[in-house]
Amino acid sequence: MINKLQRIVESNCISKNVKVTTLAYWSDVVFAKCVFILAPLSLLAIIPAIIITLQSETYLILWFDVFCLLMLVFVGYAPLLSVKTRKVLLILLLFLTAFVLLKELGNFGPGLAYLLSATIFSLLLFPNKKTFAPFILTFILCVIYGFLIHYDLVEIQAVHGDNVMEWIAVSSNVLFMSAVFSLIIPFFFSKLEGILGEKIHLLESVRKSNLELEQSIEEVKSKNIELEQFAYVASHDLQEPLRMISSFMDKLKLKYAEQFDDKALQYIYFATDGAKRMKQVIFDLLLYSRANKPSEQIEKVNLNEVVGEHIQLRRKLIAEKNASIQFEALPVLNTNRAPITQIIHCLLDNALKYVKKDVPPRIEIHAKEKETVWEFAVKDNGIGIDQKFYDKIFIIFQRLHNRNQQDGTGIGLSIVKRSVEFLGGLVWLESSVGEGSTFYFTIAKTNH
Ligand code: ADP
Repeated sequence: MINKLQRIVESNCISKNVKVTTLAYWSDVVFAKCVFILAPLSLLAIIPAIIITLQSETYLILWFDVFCLLMLVFVGYAPLLSVKTRKVLLILLLFLTAFVLLKELGNFGPGLAYLLSATIFSLLLFPNKKTFAPFILTFILCVIYGFLIHYDLVEIQAVHGDNVMEWIAVSSNVLFMSAVFSLIIPFFFSKLEGILGEKIHLLESVRKSNLELEQSIEEVKSKNIELEQFAYVASHDLQEPLRMISSFMDKLKLKYAEQFDDKALQYIYFATDGAKRMKQVIFDLLLYSRANKPSEQIEKVNLNEVVGEHIQLRRKLIAEKNASIQFEALPVLNTNRAPITQIIHCLLDNALKYVKKDVPPRIEIHAKEKETVWEFAVKDNGIGIDQKFYDKIFIIFQRLHNRNQQDGTGIGLSIVKRSVEFLGGLVWLESSVGEGSTFYFTIAKTNH
């Protein structure tokens, strides 16, 4: 029942087609709540009115209370009235109450409080209006009341003798406050509305950008899948013709070596070398395209063994360069063997490759257990990397050295990045040119 009544008042007192995000809407909500609460409260107010009536035999207050109750019911429940008319009726009722209370209970009674609250209510119910209407109404009521005092039509308690002068002093203060509120409240609301508008605009643009971002991410994802498929198919299909080129070049050299002059042999060498390099690129591309979808199951991988395998594989190179690879007790992870092996081997290969002339490579591997991840560091004393290239080196085919300086395909670190991300981690580096680099990467513990 109460809910039903509340719904009726709300549908009568809240304007349709007003956005929830506007001040006007919330002013209507305040109005609806006021009307809904004031009706039963004015029913309660009849009790003190009855007491006053019995004591002083002034029936006006009692009748006026009943009138107020009926008016509130009318404002809240009468059909067909516009919200604006309802609001104006409530404001007029407040001014009238102020006047009746002033008249019946004197110039120091609750009438003064009602007079001021009527101004505040008016400004709250019409928050978008810069208006002096409530001030003017207050002024008119004060003047009328002054006349009533002058002609002894109301009985008032004068503290200092001259009733009219005293009322002028009292009412001018009320008028002053009414004027101040009339200036301040609309100013406050207009600023508030401005800020609200800006915030809504901002939220709207954030929402739009998020939507665009999500769309772009989706596009990038599908493009990535296409690219991966392309890389996989292309690298797979290219292997066969490449093998043919290499093997026929070898046959050509074996069979006709004596008929060829040095120039021809050099051409054959270039062709074979090109095919070899292309084979490496294709191999790396295949690794790259598989880096985020390993085929094997999760297993216990002892990282000490992974480093040991690398040392074994590169023992000739390590001996030639007089390199040392030091590592403290590395953990055993429950993870995919292929990506973690690729990460470690690639970082170690680079640390052995990008070395300073005549300086034996000193490589260290450290592991640190953190709350949610394992953090690893591969440190070298090589040529180092300029900070401006920190991002570039992780992009596929991006190299800082040409082939004459260092052999390579520019895919290694992009495989590292992909594999690390597949294992739920991040990769980054610290380096200074001429002193060496430290590559850090993390592996999430969740699947370990
Ligand atoms: P590649 O070694 O085949 O060129 P990578 O993707 O492994 O491809 O590396 C990209 C570039 O980053 C390299 O060309 C090299 O210039 C630089 N780089 C990688 N590792 C190191 C390192 N440890 N020290 C100095 N430079 C490095």
